[in-house]
Amino acid sequence: MVVVSKIEDLKAIITSLKSNQKNIGLVPTMGALHKGHLSLIEKSVQENDFSITTIFVNPTQFDKKEDLENYPSTLENDLKLVEKTNCDLVFTPSAEEMYQENLHAEAFYFDGLENEMEGKHRKNHFDGVGTIVKKFFELTQPTKAYFGEKDFQQLQIIKKMVSKNQMPIEIIGCPIFREEDGLAMSSRNARLNKNQRNSAPFIYESLQKASELLKTSTIENVNQWMQQTYKEQTELRLEYFEIADEATLQTATKKESSKKYRAFIAVFAGTIRLIDNISL
Ligand code: AMP
Repeated sequence: MVVVSKIEDLKAIITSLKSNQKNIGLVPTMGALHKGHLSLIEKSVQENDFSITTIFVNPTQFDKKEDLENYPSTLENDLKLVEKTNCDLVFTPSAEEMYQENLHAEAFYFDGLENEMEGKHRKNHFDGVGTIVKKFFELTQPTKAYFGEKDFQQLQIIKKMVSKNQMPIEIIGCPIFREEDGLAMSSRNARLNKNQRNSAPFIYESLQKASELLKTSTIENVNQWMQQTYKEQTELRLEYFEIADEATLQTATKKESSKKYRAFIAVFAGTIRLIDNISL
């Protein structure tokens, strides 16, 4: 496995791969890798001639300085984990390498997908995501790129970017990996204290209960139940819960049989923000 941090070195490798008609699989990550990330990388290794994992904590997608500064970094261990998947290359650029002096996000319009849920609560988040993913796509020219359903809105936004710009890239959505107690794996879980970690599986439990409840109840009732159940939690604070149309991500107020829905949630455990979602 090659580890590259300079764009120039990466470009030379990509040029050679392209001249040999190799398929390239790309998995963008922010590091502090866990089994969820590794499942994406393993899928890429299975499906492509050459796989690239990027490890880059992208400053322009963080709206809170504190969140960026506290984002876990475990590069040495990450490289060991990626090596075991038979991934071919890890790209670990610095912020200067990716942005030079211009540490700014481009403004994107993803047909309104960017204004829902995470877009409402994390200012300019998806401009940052769009900016960095577009840069990685241009640099690595992947045949396929892998994104987790853990960040379902991000997945839909990347699919939108690719279709709007007619990029010749297939976007592959991958299922959410969970701890045994149901908590969605996340790099941020490592920052939870013991009480917060013990409470955090409630997030997925509440999503499952909401899903059950929706079978016999209205969306309005499920929303009310969710607000109420989080009032009883001492370690967790509900930021938002929404049932939304999977395609448009717009908030659903009543069920229509022709549409597919998903429930989305963001919860704070202290200052640590956790997100999850479930197909309904
Ligand atoms: P991140 O490092 O958090 O930016 O995540 C990198 C990629 O891994 C994104 O496409 C995420 O959606 C995906 N990912 C993160 N956590 C999980 C998980 N628990 N299961 C599946 N994919 C995940």
